[in-house]
Amino acid sequence: MAEVTGFPERVALDPEVVRIARTLEDAGYETWAVGGALRDRLLGGGQSDVDLATAATPEVVQRLFRRTVPVGVRFGTVGVLDSGRRLHEVTTFRQDVETDGRHAVVRFGVSLDEDLARRDFTINAIAYHPVREVWRDPFDGFADLRAGLVRAVGVPADRFREDYLRILRGIRFAARFGFRFDPATWDAAVAAAPGLDGLSAERVRDEWTKGLVTARSVAEFCRLWREAGAAAVWLPELDGLPAGADPAPEPRDPVVLTTLVCRAPATVLARLRASNHEIARAAAVEEGPAAPEGRDDVAVRRWLHRVGTAVDDLVLLAAYRGGTPAWVETVRQVRERGDPTERGDLAVTGHDLLALGVAPGPELGTLLDRLVDEVIRDPSRNRRDDLLAMVRSWR
Ligand code: ATP
Ligand code: MG
Repeated sequence: MAEVTGFPERVALDPEVVRIARTLEDAGYETWAVGGALRDRLLGGGQSDVDLATAATPEVVQRLFRRTVPVGVRFGTVGVLDSGRRLHEVTTFRQDVETDGRHAVVRFGVSLDEDLARRDFTINAIAYHPVREVWRDPFDGFADLRAGLVRAVGVPADRFREDYLRILRGIRFAARFGFRFDPATWDAAVAAAPGLDGLSAERVRDEWTKGLVTARSVAEFCRLWREAGAAAVWLPELDGLPAGADPAPEPRDPVVLTTLVCRAPATVLARLRASNHEIARAAAVEEGPAAPEGRDDVAVRRWLHRVGTAVDDLVLLAAYRGGTPAWVETVRQVRERGDPTERGDLAVTGHDLLALGVAPGPELGTLLDRLVDEVIRDPSRNRRDDLLAMVRSWR
C-alpha cells in the first residue's frame, strides 16, 4: 500500500528519534516509527514517546550507540540514550512464535509487515518512516482511526487467544478515544473473556488503573468491562457509574475512582495486588464516614479527627460524586487555620500529663482523647495552662 490518502504528509518527530533512525538506516538497517505514538499524533493528541522498530538485532543496536540500556533485550528492546540522556526504545522487528495467552517467545529476522501483523489493533499497527517520511499501513489503521473503530489485526479470536490482555487494552483504547469496537472484534472479545483469568494480577491492574485515568468516560470504561465479561472474571464488585454520571474533576486518582465504582474496593485492590499503601487508602475511604455530619466547624473537625489521612481521598470522592458539598469549604478553612483535630495538635503532651501524676497506660490515653474532644469543640481552649487545668479538674 504505497499511497494512503488522507494521511498527513509528515509528522513532527523528536529530532533525536530521527537521528537514531538515521544512524540505523545508514548502517543498513531499515527502521520505522511505530505504535501508540503515531496513533496519538494522528488523533491530534499528545507527544507520547515514539517507539522505533528496526531490522537491526539488539546486539547491533547496542553496538551502534554509545549509551544504551538493556530494557528488554530478550524481547528485542534496547533503550538508546540521546545526548540529553533521554531514553528512546528501539525494538527489533519480531514475530511471536509461541503464545500461551500470557507471554510470548519471539523470533527476530522478520519484516516490518510481519512485525506490524503481530500487533493488537489496526490503530496500533501503523508505521512511519522517520527519514523518508512515508507511511506504511497494511491493515488500514488510518481508516479505523478516522471511523473511530477498535479492530483487531487479523482474526480477532486468534489474537485474543494469543494474549488475553488485548481484550482489556481494546477496552481501554475504546474508552480513551470514544471509539466503538468493530462488531467482529467485540464478539471475539466477549467470547474470549473467560480466558482473562489466566493473566497475572499485575497486568490486569495496570490496564484497570491506566483505563480509569485515561478514559474519556469512566462510565463507558466500566460499562465495557462489564459487558465484555472482564468484570465477571476480575472485578465482580464493579458496579460502574450510571451513564452521564462521569467524574469530571481532576486529578484522576485510580484508587479513589476504584472506590467510586466498586463495592469492597480494598478487596478489589488486594486481588489486583496493588501496594499495601493503596489498599489501606481504599479501606480508609470505604470506612469513611464519607462526609461530616454537618458543615459547621465542629462537625468538620470531628470528621477530620475520625478520618485522619483519608481526608483528601474523601474530598476527591465527594467531588467525583458531583457538585462540591458545602462542607468542603469548611474543611479548607479549618485546615488553613490549623485548627486542632488530633492528639499531636494539642498544646500539651503525654509527658505533661505524666508530670501531673497521671498513670501511663489507658488512663493517659483517655485523658488525651478527652482533651482532643474539648479543643475540637473550642479550639481557643488549646492552651497549655487551660488544658492542664482541665485535666486537674477531671481527676
Ligand atoms: P499507550 O502507551 O498509550 O498505553 P500503546 O499503544 O503505545 O498505548 P504500548 O503498551 O506502549 O501501548 O505498546 C506499544 C505498541 O506495541 C502498541 O501500539 C502495539 O502496537 C504493540 N503492543 C503492545 N502490547 C501489545 C499486545 N499485548 N499485543 C499486541 N501488540 C501489542
Ligand atoms: Mg506506549
